[in-house]
Amino acid sequence: MSFLPISYEDMNERGWEQLDFLYISGDAYVDHPSFGHAIITRVLESEGFKVGIIAQPNWKNSQDFKKLGRPKYGVLISSGVIDSMVNHYTASKKKRSTDLYSPGGKSRHRPDRAVIVYANKIKEIFKDTPVIIGGIEASLRRFAHYDYWDDKVRRSILVDSKADLLVYGMGEIPITEIAKLLKKDVPIASLKNTRGCAYLASYDELPIEIKEAVDAKGTKNIAILPSFEEVSENKKSYAEAFKIQYNEQDAISGKILVQQHGDRFLVQNPPTLPMSVAELDKVYALPYERTYHPVYEKLGGIPAITEVEFSITSHRGCYGGCSFCALNFHQGRVIQKRSQASIINEAKKLTWSEGFKGYIHDVGGPTANFRNVACEKQVKSGVCKDRQCLYPEPCKNLIVDHSEYLDLLRKLRALPEVKKVFIRSGIRYDYLMLDKNNDFFTELCEHHVSGQLKVAPEHVVDRVLEKMGKPKRQIYERFVKKFYDINIKLNKEQYVVPYLISSHPGSDLNAAVELAEYLKEHGYMPEQVQDFYPTPGTLSTCMFYTDYDVRNMKKVYVPKLPKEKAMQRALLQYRKKENYFLVIEALKEANREDLIGFGPNCLVKPQRGKWQGNADTKSQNAQTKDVRGKTGQRSQNERDQNGSKNPKGQRGTSLRKDERTQNEQRGPKSRKDERAQNEQRGPKSRIGGTAQNDSRGPKDLNSKSGQMGTSRQRDQGDKTGPKASVNKKPNNLTRKKR
Ligand code: SF4
Repeated sequence: MSFLPISYEDMNERGWEQLDFLYISGDAYVDHPSFGHAIITRVLESEGFKVGIIAQPNWKNSQDFKKLGRPKYGVLISSGVIDSMVNHYTASKKKRSTDLYSPGGKSRHRPDRAVIVYANKIKEIFKDTPVIIGGIEASLRRFAHYDYWDDKVRRSILVDSKADLLVYGMGEIPITEIAKLLKKDVPIASLKNTRGCAYLASYDELPIEIKEAVDAKGTKNIAILPSFEEVSENKKSYAEAFKIQYNEQDAISGKILVQQHGDRFLVQNPPTLPMSVAELDKVYALPYERTYHPVYEKLGGIPAITEVEFSITSHRGCYGGCSFCALNFHQGRVIQKRSQASIINEAKKLTWSEGFKGYIHDVGGPTANFRNVACEKQVKSGVCKDRQCLYPEPCKNLIVDHSEYLDLLRKLRALPEVKKVFIRSGIRYDYLMLDKNNDFFTELCEHHVSGQLKVAPEHVVDRVLEKMGKPKRQIYERFVKKFYDINIKLNKEQYVVPYLISSHPGSDLNAAVELAEYLKEHGYMPEQVQDFYPTPGTLSTCMFYTDYDVRNMKKVYVPKLPKEKAMQRALLQYRKKENYFLVIEALKEANREDLIGFGPNCLVKPQRGKWQGNADTKSQNAQTKDVRGKTGQRSQNERDQNGSKNPKGQRGTSLRKDERTQNEQRGPKSRKDERAQNEQRGPKSRIGGTAQNDSRGPKDLNSKSGQMGTSRQRDQGDKTGPKASVNKKPNNLTRKKR
């Protein structure tokens, strides 16, 4: 077992004169199954192909691209685990200074729009060699798409990259099929039938049935989307095109999709059929080194490995249907899972690896507790179009059962070298609450939470949640209550930490104020807040650009002005001194001046001069000082706001009065829990996680979701979810002991 060649010397050691395939990656070379480049190259190697990797080549000249020579069959290109623009810029379009997927965590090791830059370079250097693009950047930009950074609709990435073929989704099956055909000397221009692929062709080059569909403006199995030119000029056309794309991403029921770009046609074949358990087991049994290439050691290593080195991907796919997540376009809604034996085998390998201290950091997928398909119907007939499995109400066909996942977790934690198995992938609490059997919830709290359970209500105002495709507030509150009830029974002091998004489509200033009131009521103070980030390929991004909710084609309010976004964000952190003036301004604009004052429900104190009827504007410093009180000391009221002294400020449906008073009395967490947390600290953003595009940034860049990236690209920098000052939720254990 060893890393794949990255130099001629490596090729010579293997006795290779020429590669069959060259893989160019925007991420550093990490041979771990959380990285798309690792999976695809190992899959090709297992099929007998000679594969080499050039990671993060210098795109300003040609030398790096030539260092392994011209490959025999083709060049494969990916930007890395996340879209290069998301990797480089925050939601407010500021440059990030760090990159977890690069040596030493330093940024700028890849160009903006990496797939386009790399592919053009390769076309220039190896003129007639087939170029195949894949990964999250190619996958989510395969149609004409709104680009947040250019603030316009861009053409399919196939047009700008000049690549011959685009592989979307996870890619193992199509890339193997393509490689075998290229080996048989089939010209790449003839590869027009492979599932999970998209290509460009002139009218004359189209297969006959697609020509007929273009002429007839669609047939039973082929849908013709509004053209690039139409969707660029007309937002309603863009929304209609997106709706068709969104509904046709099922391997069984999805149609071939065609979108004209000038005098050429973009054709997306239906997705690859879901992989069987045996197929997925085979992928995860390949001989990964499970770490980064040694060349990075002296450069500080690759930080992203920390998040995944002791984590296990148990399945792919998600039927949660969150609007801000692009997983539907990448892995699809049908769950594909590994066998328990395969996962346990990987866990055993982890226990033998250097640095393993007894803690498995995660066993999950895009959504941890979706280990099985949503229903039997989707296996035979495909997923429903125009209907989500959990939203707006759970489908009557939904199978609710955590028993197999629980069985797996029990087996993992019974392994001799394993002290704890944590679940850090997202839990869908609405699905959890549907389970009449409490065994999973109880054991989740008892064995798999490391003091804090991070969940993603994202908001608490139902009209915003409706746009997000998330369950109603009432369900979240019932879940939180049950979580604390179970922990009290278990004598455990653990907290729920919610992820929240500000300025999502549908969230007006009043909704942001309501969310701030909720935070006040529950004594919760997020340390970091995620601004909505319009990443490619999500329903929410379509709302952001078009102002339409494509599910019903009704208009939706979208906060777009930087000032309003700043106010919404500030409201979520209303206690922060630097947000004081923005919060005052927001409350006035929302006609909620009742929340400025000294009462227990007020979010902020008034400006001193204003409160005293003095219209003179004070300097910011003076006013800031005033927030601290006349003496410069924190006032009782402010302490109340911070939840440190006055339990009145912490009322909430999830907090009982007797528990609230325990806030100031709770003792330290158990040392054991603290140790466990320390063991599992990692980069804030993770690779395998809620799949890139819940836009949870690199966490969600959880390549658990993908080969080519994650599906939830939450913003890495602007937020990554609350680091948390958590609900200071005490438990009865503390009280009983006292
Ligand atoms: S029948 Fe229900 S559970 Fe099954 S795919 Fe359709 S919406 Fe989802």
